Amino acid sequence: MQVDNCIFCKIVKGEIKSQKVYEDQDIVAFLDINPVNKGHVLVIPKDHFENIFDIPKDKLSKVMEVVQKVAIALKKMGADGVNIVSNNGKAAEQHVFHLHIHVIPRYYNDGKEL
Ligand code: 5GP
Ligand code: ZN
Repeated sequence: MQVDNCIFCKIVKGEIKSQKVYEDQDIVAFLDINPVNKGHVLVIPKDHFENIFDIPKDKLSKVMEVVQKVAIALKKMGADGVNIVSNNGKAAEQHVFHLHIHVIPRYYNDGKEL
């Protein structure tokens, strides 16, 4: 279920455009609007959960299965590695309060820092 005034719920509903790279009944993955590296993907459940503290574990498992699919796809496309990151709670610098997992392709000597 989606809620009002949530950017990612609007992406799920198609009210805000995004570049989707994966979609199924429960999950959407799309490119981050402000990527750390080219190909930075966000994986989210379609249902609104604020963060790790309120998503049921069966739903989280589905999210993580897609995280692995995305990581494998990025590696096939040439990434040397991936960072998998999730910020949970204001103190941890979560800015969008709809659970999301960042999957960031990394390259040797890409000079990025997380
Ligand atoms: P957080 O800081 O909450 O872990 O990450 C939020 C992420 O969402 C940021 O990396 C930011 O660039 C991304 N983001 C915020 N608004 C939008 C949007 O409207 N579209 C897309 N594709 N990404 C967004
Ligand atoms: Zn939401």
